[in-house]
Amino acid sequence: MLATETKVKPIDCYHYIDGQYVPSKNGKTFENVNPATEEVLGVVSEGGKEEVDLAIKAARKAIKGEWRKMPLRKRSAILRKIGDLILERKDELAMLETLDTGKPLWLSTNVDIDRAAYNFHFFADYMISVGNEAYQQDDIAIHYSVSRPVGVVGLINPWNLPLLLMTWKLAPALAAGNTVVMKPSEVTPMTATVLAQICTDAGVPDGVVNMVHGFGETGAAITSHPDVDAIAFTGETVTGSAIMKAAAPTLKKLSFELGGKNPNIIFADANMEDVIETTLRSSFMNQGEVCLCGSRIYVERSIYNEFLEKFVAKTKELKVGDPLDPNTNVGALVSKEHYNKVLSYLELAPQEGGTFLTGGKPLEGSEKGYFVEPTIITGLGRNSRCVREEIFGPVVTVLPFDTEEEVLEQVNDTHYGLSASLWTGDLKRAHRVAGQIEAGMIWINTWFLRDLRTPFGGMKHSGIGREGGAHSFDFYTELSNITIKL
Ligand code: NDP
Repeated sequence: MLATETKVKPIDCYHYIDGQYVPSKNGKTFENVNPATEEVLGVVSEGGKEEVDLAIKAARKAIKGEWRKMPLRKRSAILRKIGDLILERKDELAMLETLDTGKPLWLSTNVDIDRAAYNFHFFADYMISVGNEAYQQDDIAIHYSVSRPVGVVGLINPWNLPLLLMTWKLAPALAAGNTVVMKPSEVTPMTATVLAQICTDAGVPDGVVNMVHGFGETGAAITSHPDVDAIAFTGETVTGSAIMKAAAPTLKKLSFELGGKNPNIIFADANMEDVIETTLRSSFMNQGEVCLCGSRIYVERSIYNEFLEKFVAKTKELKVGDPLDPNTNVGALVSKEHYNKVLSYLELAPQEGGTFLTGGKPLEGSEKGYFVEPTIITGLGRNSRCVREEIFGPVVTVLPFDTEEEVLEQVNDTHYGLSASLWTGDLKRAHRVAGQIEAGMIWINTWFLRDLRTPFGGMKHSGIGREGGAHSFDFYTELSNITIKL
């Protein structure tokens, strides 16, 4: 039995097509389960090709309508209003997010929902300042560019930060004048369902924002559809690869934010107090289910034992359990399937020579819910699967290193390249090492600090393209260059 009762009621989730909630034509639904209690929260309409066709048809029609022709300031005001309405409904959205994902309610409230609203406020401001290029070529010609929306964009998202990641794509897509079909993850459908209505309430015309619920096949129906012009996808690397194949015949524009196995490198001259405090967050925030979590920790040998002693002691203090309890640090993993995946790595670790310094098992005494104890593993070889593969749970591996060269070689020995953190008191070393890490985002003496104007994304198998500010606008915009001969 969980400690806190909630007044916000979970919702059944319907598709949102042409400004209306609609069930599937064939009436098919699936159950939405609360991962902290294993209780059924409600049902979700399961979309097939028919619903995807209808949603894309509505988006196609709307791309010719008033949305793209709307004066910029009016469109910007609508985006601002969406952000305002998200904040007005913050408590409700935060509760739905927590019921769906199992993450602590304080985290949904202060990170997921706040940042979701800010995504709209940011792009409402940003869109006003976007200009076009112009060049005078001697006395021969003037060249200038005009931009237009890409068209109908498919937005496909994972379950770890459902509203935050959906708004991170939806806000710039709308700001640039596109129409969209969203596909939230099947395990976290509730906040996207509310978001669709919020868009209409804020003044977005019917057909501009559409949403279809369902499984991978529903996503695949969007990515292979000839009337979709671009796909913005966040999720696993293997899914990205499948989407690339599906989108190839119709040559869609693609933006991919994929998996990661991010290093956290700690040099002996770093401020230990800061290291421990932030490493606790970068390891276990959101149950370790953040693509930016630093799950491979490398510590300079001279402070290896001191670091482990302090880090293990602080990790043991973390409170795991009821997501509605304000004192909870670590909630439930998102689904049974994901819980089983994380447990399979905990089974594997000792077989690979690993030792658990804490954790390594489901939360003791919990009869219901997908709770795993925060886990620190040492003694693993650099080629073990636990060190190389994305576990995406509250599980970190710690390895010692002796030299800068050695740690860089290990850090870059992966097909992932999303983010990295490094800790040092030596400014020269900080710049020297940061410049050699093969990752799209690198933090020095911090983690998770973001400015939405900066490029966000990964290299190698962690992504294609970047999101954020001008980078998002580039993706959601087509340019024509116009030349006038003088
Ligand atoms: P998945 O790739 O399994 O799913 C993501 C979305 O894609 C879901 O909506 C899913 O549908 C849908 N989908 C599945 N198969 C297909 C397909 N063939 N065609 C089109 N759509 C499809 O990722 P998870 O939901 O498991 O999310 C975890 C992953 O996301 C991790 O790898 C994590 O690193 C990554 N991630 C990356 C981030 C980044 O910025 N780089 C940020 C956050 C997460 P459904 O699941 O409903 O069946």
